Amino acid sequence: MTVRVRIAPSPTGNFHIGTARTAIFNWLFVRNHGGQFILRIEDTDTERSRPEFTENILDGMTWLGLNWDEGPFFQTQRLDLYRQAVQTLLDKGLAYRCYTTSDELDQMRATQQARHEAPRYDNRHRNLTAEQIAQFEAEGRKPVIRFKIDDDREIVWDDQVRGKMTWKGRDLGGDMVIARQPEGDETFGQPLYNLAVVVDDMDMKISHVLRGEDHIANTAKQILLYEALGEEIPVFAHTPLILNEKGQKLSKRDGVTSISDFKRMGFLPEAIANYMILLGWTPENSTQELFSLDEAAQLFGLDRVNKAGAKFDWDKLDWINSQYLHNKAPEAVVDQLIPYWQEAGYEFDPEGDRDWLIQLTEIIVHSLTRLADAIPESRLLFGEKIKFSEKAIAQLQLENVEPVLNSIQDNLASATEFNADIAKDIIKQVTKAHNVKKGLVMKSLRAALTGELQGPDLIQSWALLHRKGWDKARLQQALAVISS
Ligand code: GLU
Repeated sequence: MTVRVRIAPSPTGNFHIGTARTAIFNWLFVRNHGGQFILRIEDTDTERSRPEFTENILDGMTWLGLNWDEGPFFQTQRLDLYRQAVQTLLDKGLAYRCYTTSDELDQMRATQQARHEAPRYDNRHRNLTAEQIAQFEAEGRKPVIRFKIDDDREIVWDDQVRGKMTWKGRDLGGDMVIARQPEGDETFGQPLYNLAVVVDDMDMKISHVLRGEDHIANTAKQILLYEALGEEIPVFAHTPLILNEKGQKLSKRDGVTSISDFKRMGFLPEAIANYMILLGWTPENSTQELFSLDEAAQLFGLDRVNKAGAKFDWDKLDWINSQYLHNKAPEAVVDQLIPYWQEAGYEFDPEGDRDWLIQLTEIIVHSLTRLADAIPESRLLFGEKIKFSEKAIAQLQLENVEPVLNSIQDNLASATEFNADIAKDIIKQVTKAHNVKKGLVMKSLRAALTGELQGPDLIQSWALLHRKGWDKARLQQALAVISS
C-alpha cells in the first residue's frame, strides 16, 4: 500500500501549535514509510477563513521544514465534488432534505434539556411525505441535507495510537447535516466539514488519517460516510492533545498558540520542530533528546506515540532552543539576530557592519536561550555614547581609578594595533604601573566601557568596541563623569 497522509488546516486562524504538531507527526510517518504528504486547506467556512491565515500556515510549514508533495489544495475550489457526493447519498436514500427551522431546533433542545437528555436532532424529517415537502417548500423553508445515522449502529476501528475504539450511533447526535444551501445557490454548494473531509480523503487516496483526538467523534461519523459512499476506510490514528502546565487543553488564553508567535519570541525552527517531535512521542531504547526531523523520521512509529495528553514544558523548549543556538556558528546565527537588534532600535548597518555583528554574536551567543535575548545581552555593546549606572559611577569615583583610566587611554592612543592579547597586556602594565589590584582595573574598565559592572566578557567586548572607536569615546565619557 502506498502511504498517503495529509494535513488539513482550516485557515480560520494562524498556524496553531496543535496543527503543527499533527503536521510533524504526519511528516515523520510518511518520511519513515515513503509515500506522499498532501497539504489541503479546508476553507469552506467562508465567513471565518482568511487568505492571511492561509499564508501564515504555508509560511509556518515552510519555516519548520515540513515540505509537502502535493497541494496546497483548497476545498472552495472543489465544491463540485462535494455536490456530487451529496447527490449520490440522496439518490441512495442515505440522506434527505430536512426543513426543520432554527426555532424548532431550539425548542427541541430546550425540551431535551428539561428532560436532562443530551442534545440531539430527533430525526423528525427523515421520512417526510411528498405533501409535507411541498408544504414546507410553499412556506419558503430552506432545507439542509442530513445524512442518516442509525442509532443501533456500533462503529469500531483499530486506532493506531489508542487501540480498539467503539462508538455507538446513538451518541453521534442524530442524523447529521452534511450540506447547506447558501443564498442564491440551488445546489447545496456549502458542504460541511465531515462530508468535505471524507470526499477529499477518498479522492486524494489518503491511506492514513493522523490527527488530534478532538476529532474522534468525527471519525465515527466519517466511517459511516465512507461506508455510504462505498469506499475503503483509511487507517486512523488520534494523537493526544497538547496541554498547558495546568493540564488543560492549550488555548489562546495561554498566550502563545501559533507557530508565528514562537518565531517572534525567538525560537529556532529546528528547536520548535525538535520539541514538538518529543511532545507525545518517545524513541525506543533511547534517551536522545535532540533530533532533526530527518533523524526522527528514521525512528518514528505510531506505536511510540503516547495516549495521554502532552504537557507543554517551556523550560524544556528553552533548553532545546539554547542547545541549537549554542551549537551554531556565529555566521549562521547573525542574520536571525539582526531583526531583533533592529527592533530594539540599535544603530548599525546590516551589510557594512556584518563582520562586526558576527564578532558581537560570538561574544553573546552562549548566553542566549532565545534569539530575542540578544536585545538585552548586546545592549551595552551598541553605540558610541553610553549611560552609566549608579554602581558604575560609584566605581569610577573610587581612589586611583582616574589615573588608571588615563593610563589606559594613553596606551590606546599609542598602540598601532589592537587585539585581545594587546588588551590584556595593557591591563597588566597599568596594574603594575599604578600598583593597584588587577580587579580594580578590570572593574573600572568595565564600568568605563559599558556603563555597568556586569556584562559580557570584558576583553572581547573591548576588542569589539575598539573596532568602532567606541572604546576611546566611552573612556573619555567616563573620565568626564569622574571629573564632573
Ligand atoms: N480542518 C480540520 C482542522 O483544522 C482538519 C481535521 C482533519 O484532519 O480531518 O481541525
